[in-house]
Amino acid sequence: MSHAVLHIAIPSPLRRRFDYLAPARPVPAGSRVSVSFGRRPVVGIVLGGAEGSEVPREKLRPVDAVLDEAPLLPPEILELLHWASTYYHHPIGEVCAAALPVALRQGQPAQPRGLRRYRLTPAGAEASPEQLKRAPRQATLLARLQRLAMAAMAAGPDDLAELDGWPGAMKRLEEKGWVLAEETLMLPASAATDKAPPLGAAQQAAVAAVSAAFGGYAGFLLDGVTGSGKTEVYLRLIEQALAAGRQTLVLVPEIGLTPQLLERFRRRFPVPIAVLHSGLSDGERLNAWLAARAGLAPIVIGTRSAAFTPLPGLGLIVVDEEHDPSFKQQDGFRYSARDVAVVRAQKTRVPIVLGSATPALESLANAAAGRYTRLELPERAGAAVHPHMRLLDIRHQSLDGGVSEPMYRAMHHHLGQGGQVLLFLNRRGYAPVLLCHDCGWVATCRRCDAHLTYHAGQKRIRCHHCGTERPVPQQCGGCGSLDLRPVGHGTERVEEALRARFPDLGVERIDRDATRRKGSLEAKLERVHSGAARILIGTQMLAKGHHFPDVTLVGILDADQGLFSADFRAGERMAQLILQVAGRAGRAERPGEVVIQTHHPEHPLLRLLIEQGYAAFAAAALGERQQAELPPYSFLALLRAEAPAAAVPLAFLEEARGLAESVGHAGVMVLGPVPAPMERRAGRYRAQLLLQAASRAALHRLLDRWLPLLEESKAGRKVRWSLDVDPAEMF
Ligand code: ADP
Ligand code: ZN
Ligand code: ZN
Repeated sequence: MSHAVLHIAIPSPLRRRFDYLAPARPVPAGSRVSVSFGRRPVVGIVLGGAEGSEVPREKLRPVDAVLDEAPLLPPEILELLHWASTYYHHPIGEVCAAALPVALRQGQPAQPRGLRRYRLTPAGAEASPEQLKRAPRQATLLARLQRLAMAAMAAGPDDLAELDGWPGAMKRLEEKGWVLAEETLMLPASAATDKAPPLGAAQQAAVAAVSAAFGGYAGFLLDGVTGSGKTEVYLRLIEQALAAGRQTLVLVPEIGLTPQLLERFRRRFPVPIAVLHSGLSDGERLNAWLAARAGLAPIVIGTRSAAFTPLPGLGLIVVDEEHDPSFKQQDGFRYSARDVAVVRAQKTRVPIVLGSATPALESLANAAAGRYTRLELPERAGAAVHPHMRLLDIRHQSLDGGVSEPMYRAMHHHLGQGGQVLLFLNRRGYAPVLLCHDCGWVATCRRCDAHLTYHAGQKRIRCHHCGTERPVPQQCGGCGSLDLRPVGHGTERVEEALRARFPDLGVERIDRDATRRKGSLEAKLERVHSGAARILIGTQMLAKGHHFPDVTLVGILDADQGLFSADFRAGERMAQLILQVAGRAGRAERPGEVVIQTHHPEHPLLRLLIEQGYAAFAAAALGERQQAELPPYSFLALLRAEAPAAAVPLAFLEEARGLAESVGHAGVMVLGPVPAPMERRAGRYRAQLLLQAASRAALHRLLDRWLPLLEESKAGRKVRWSLDVDPAEMF
């Protein structure tokens, strides 16, 4: 049926849809159209049609072009996007845009693009990287291609992205006759070579519980320590979904989508796997998305926004590391991909498995309330045992590079027995503060309420909040003294101390600074795996995805960061991080030890975590949340505002508070406005107003009436404001 008027979602901050005159032939909902918006042409998504509009007909403009033959987004996804727009109170146009790959957002045709793939010739398969000693790039590339060939894979740009300068090296290998390039439209499928191991009893029970739920909605929390075989459970469930001809959507945290994980999937399943993450080229992303939408990819693995991918045969959803903060988008459309996935599972009536070694407190509470079935994998798979954890009281201890003498003794012990050591410190740079010893002046950011971090390697001081940086000053900015001293420890400083203490053992630092160059992370990991490096120091980059079987000692250098933060989730995050890092270590014949430096060895939550484990910690932390009426025992929305002058955001938020009072906020506490914990950031002053409600319904009733008023507010035009429903960070 043809409508006279089309309702169109257009990326714009306005929380509404826009009406345009329909062309003669019908345009189904979910199709893209090109329309003029103001003076510019934009790509919009048709949401539906009607015979008339609230806008007088003569003011309506026509649709300029229909971009899709068939609707791009199926009704199921349109409904999900509608839900997300309503729940997060975010403009539907921006929500729709977030669901599309960039190429489609820009209006390019929904056609796959030819992609080059590279395959070894027989000569290339025989060649040895050793022959290329003087061409290290070619050697690395050849080794990579040979490894992929073992899984019968041709290499695409996504497999090679992190190898620095690979296109040039590839040309040389082609010239040698070792590589053939081919154009393909299809996603690669591998010849699977891995056999599934027989499952342990707990794994079997988990697989049985979820597969019994196929064909309808059911939520499961798969709770098992790192190495307990969660991924193996996913793989078995996916196998069953495949056998039933259904698609599986696997969501992973940004940093969890490693080549190792992909290879594990590819070695198991001889089917095309669509991979969706931000590191892909537009063409790769487009192809993967189209293959998923056409049902040609039975397995779709992706980060956050993959939650919105159309999947005609969806039969199962898996969210790995469901507690991971990267599932929550922190700007623009602030959604939680995990929560969207749960809603999608409900709407599509498929089971969803949320897996983690350290489930979010929200998810544990949901399981306790009966909303999810909790499945536990209590043991590490195979014969591996849990590492032993202990707290190390560093009060009155002297520290060398942030490391106490008892920690050094533990390191000597483990290294002496042939083990490797991993030290964790979640702070980049050399020192967080540069201080004048004569007058107390410290280097601060001109644009933020923050100290500048001293980076010794690059000889710069840098703001970790806005990116401002400058050369290290030679003189104090206050008194001119030359006696400037670094205070505190970052990973660079720890590395320096370790190199001095262990000059012969090989120390690798893994953090964003040390791995900026493409390929450097791989090279570092390689040196660790080969044993060339025996000691690792790193930030949370180390905490996920990697496994270091020869590491027998994990040292957490500073557990106190999480204990006294303005953010009520800091303790939960610290506990999760400690366990994630601890989980990197050890294997069957090498039981691990985890030593945690703290100034607060009596801290009750820290002790619970160490002595009784995450479940006991989580139960106590949930008790505190309940007492304080914090999530998951209440529901929050945070209205943030920022402007170049301090009074402006506060004035807007005051007005916002008044507007909430004028519409009535029964059941919702309005707290603030207050300046943000770090008030000035990147030259803008920030403030916030917090809404807290015992019921989700009460909160959303208020938001529904309140937001239209905020959009009308004059004070609101002088600030940048945003609403965050279920905020993950409180600043
Ligand atoms: P998780 O995802 O919980 O960290 P994995 O599924 O990656 O755990 O399993 C950890 C290791 O144990 C992997 O090397 C995996 O191949 C192996 N593994 C998992 N399940 C079994 C099993 N039933 N029998 C033998 N090995 C297993
Ligand atoms: Zn000074
Ligand atoms: Zn700054």
